[in-house]
Order: sequence, then structure tokens, then C-alpha cells
Amino acid sequence: MSQDTASFQDFKLNKQLFNAIDDLGYQKPSEIQVKAIPRILNGHDVVGIAQTGTGKTAAFVLPILMKLKYAQGKDPRGLILAPTRELAMQVYENILELGKYTDLRTVCLYGGIGSKKQEAEITAGCDIIVATPGRLLDIYNAGVLKTKQIKTFVLDEADRMMDMGFMPQIRRVLELLPMKKQNLFFSATFPEKVEKYAYEFTDFPEKVEVTPEFMTAELIEQKLYHVPNFLTKINLLKYLLDKEEFSKVLVFVRTRTNANNVFNFVERKITKDSRVIHANKAQSTRINAIKDFKEGNIKVLVSTDVSARGIDVDEISHVINFEVPNKYEEYVHRIGRTGRAEHHGIAISFVDPSDIYHIEKIEELISKKIAVEELPKEVELMETMPKEKKDMALEIDRQKHLDNPDFQGAFHEKKKKNLSGKARDKAFGNRPKDKRRKK
Ligand code: AMP
Repeated sequence: MSQDTASFQDFKLNKQLFNAIDDLGYQKPSEIQVKAIPRILNGHDVVGIAQTGTGKTAAFVLPILMKLKYAQGKDPRGLILAPTRELAMQVYENILELGKYTDLRTVCLYGGIGSKKQEAEITAGCDIIVATPGRLLDIYNAGVLKTKQIKTFVLDEADRMMDMGFMPQIRRVLELLPMKKQNLFFSATFPEKVEKYAYEFTDFPEKVEVTPEFMTAELIEQKLYHVPNFLTKINLLKYLLDKEEFSKVLVFVRTRTNANNVFNFVERKITKDSRVIHANKAQSTRINAIKDFKEGNIKVLVSTDVSARGIDVDEISHVINFEVPNKYEEYVHRIGRTGRAEHHGIAISFVDPSDIYHIEKIEELISKKIAVEELPKEVELMETMPKEKKDMALEIDRQKHLDNPDFQGAFHEKKKKNLSGKARDKAFGNRPKDKRRKK
């Protein structure tokens, strides 16, 4: 079945699901849905390689809803694990939307808030659980949850789970589940280490795949600006955000500190219609910020990679990589926030001299050269601050050293002479001399 000719009718879903799909306005199944849904309905274990934005959530949610049909008993029959609270909530909301004409009961479990309400929901009876691994285990250990009826187990964003160090917890969850069940393993990327887990968690799986290149090549316009430093990046950001077409903009940075820095500038110099989310923000603040962004009440959301996970906001006009990610798959995740489903999106990266190395690696990953835009004349060029200059030079030295372990940069030599012993060790990763040993 090709995607062009496929229709939701082909899946022989029940009427309740068709009606919900209709309400959501989905015209035809996406590629991953065409590939995964029939296999899941047939009872196979499935390894699905698809990113956020491809419709992969509905690809596993629809067959689960179809199989479970209606509320039954007290104990859950479906379990979906997701790496972050945001993503778990996203999956949960998808289930509520697609299952709105069924009486199936879904509970979403995540940390950061008290567990009493979540425990009460489970005790009242549920059919599907969506959870982050840690909170699921906490609730199981509290003796509230029975797992013996679970017939379908989904690991969503498995690559992210691994990056976040969740594998030991996931193994513990698996020990609680019946041996005989259907296992669905979804991941945005599929490097060797993820492949290994995929085959550990599934039995004779059918592998289905939609390539990230599909997304990046066809739906998202990508460009980059070479920008010398942070303050010039702020000026460029202001220049862009002042344009009308930049209506709903997700700005990515690498760290929490930088998220706060960029946000403070945005709020002070560019627009008050902005918020910031990162892991140090309270759960309620993050949820409200995402809600405001979703509803179009704010124009700019500044986020780190982890916090942006699972944000499902329609019609993001632009993704701006204020800083280029140094985990390269993240680039694909980030830009997948724009151009979701059938929409066309634009992703813009600000590349400073120490980012050039990373952007070249990203271009290798996506098998594509990103178009370089000239810095607009209106954008004032700022001096690079001494601290930033030093950090960039160190980073560039580090990159050259990565490619050539014998490389000793000019900066490296100079700094080695100037820095105090401790700072030098820190900067160049030397093992500190243990003076005490001499005694
Ligand atoms: P996901 O990849 O699951 O994060 O889904 C990305 C977005 O696509 C969500 O907003 C879904 O509601 C939407 N979506 C899922 N399936 C379809 C479809 N067949 N047609 C149009 N939009 C869809």
C-alpha cells in the first residue's frame, strides 16, 4: 500500500475511531501510519523508526485503541513509556483525542508533582497507562498498580530514553510485565546501540521506517547565518522577530543558563510575548508556557532540547537554533517542530565560529548542505566579549583535537603558559598532579 493511495478506511478501524480521526481533520494516514498500523493490528512486534512530526504517535495509539475497544476490568492492558513529562502528556492527549468516542480510561503518570492523584486514578480503574519510567516504578512500588493484564507495551522515543540513562529502569519495568505481550519500539534515530536494545525488547519484530531526510528535505526550509558572537546573535534575533511572518517561534539553546540569558534579552529588548522552559522551571510553569505557546498567546518560546521534547504545537512558523546542537540528532528533532504534519516550516541556525564544526557534522547526518544567508545590513555587528572569545577558541581547539589527537593549537600553547596549574588542567583535560602521593 503506498502512502498516496492509502486511506484510513484500509485499516478497518471501528466507527468510534473513524469519527475521531474525522474530527481531527486527518485526510489520509501518514507514511509511518501506513507502514505500522496494519502490522500492529496483525499482532506483530514492531520496531518503528520515525521522528516526532511524522504522525508516529497515532501510528501506535490507533491500533491500541482498536484492540482494547472498550473499558474492561480495573487493571491496565496497555502501557506506553515516554522519556519526559511533556512527551507523556502529549501521547496522553493524543489518546484522549483519538479515543474520545470510546469509554477507554487512560491515566498519565509523571514526576515533579505529588503522586496521590495519579494513584487514585489507577485505583479507580484504567485501561491504558502513559508514563515516564521513574514515576511508573514509584507507583508500582507503592503497591497501587497491577501489571499482569498488560498486553501491549510501547517504548516511545527509545533513543532519547537511552540518552537520558533510563535503560536500567526500563529493564525493571519489563520484569513486571507478562512475557506474552505485544512490544512496540519507536525511535527517532537508529544507531547501533539503539538497534541492540530494539532486538532485546521485541520478538521477531517487523521493522518499519520513515527517513528523517524525508522530513527535512521536503517539508522544512533550512538556512543558516554566520554570526560572530552572542550579542550579534541577539541583534539578528531581534531583526527576525520584528518581522511579521515570525509569528510562532521556538528558539533553541543548549543549556539552562543560556536559556535564561537569551530569554532575558528577548523579554527586555524584543518582545514581552515570550516565555522560557528548561528543566529548572517548575512543572506548572512549563505546562503553562507550552499551553500559551500552543494557543498563540505568546510569540516566542525559548527552550533547551530536553524541555522541548514532545511539544506538539501546530503551525510553529520558525525554529531558530540560537545555538547549534552538539548532539547532532537533536538538530533533526529540533527542526521537526516546524513543518509538522502537512505544514511547511522554516528552520534557521545561528552559527558562530565554534559552531562551524558542528554544523558540518549535522550536514553529514542529514546528507544536505544548509543554505547560507547573508547577515542583513540592518543587524549591527558587536564586539566579541573576551570571555566568549576565549571559550570559542578553546572549543575550536577541542574540535581540532578531536579530529587530530596530535593537534596542539596556538591558543592551546599560549594558554598553557598563562593559565594557572588548576585552570590549565581543567581547560585541557589533564589529570591533576596528585601532590600528596609524593609524600
Ligand atoms: P507526532 O509525530 O505523533 O508527534 O504527530 C505530529 C502531528 O501530526 C500531531 O499534531 C498529530 O495530531 C498530527 N497527525 C498525526 N497523524 C496525522 C495525519 N494522518 N494527518 C494529519 N496530521 C496528523
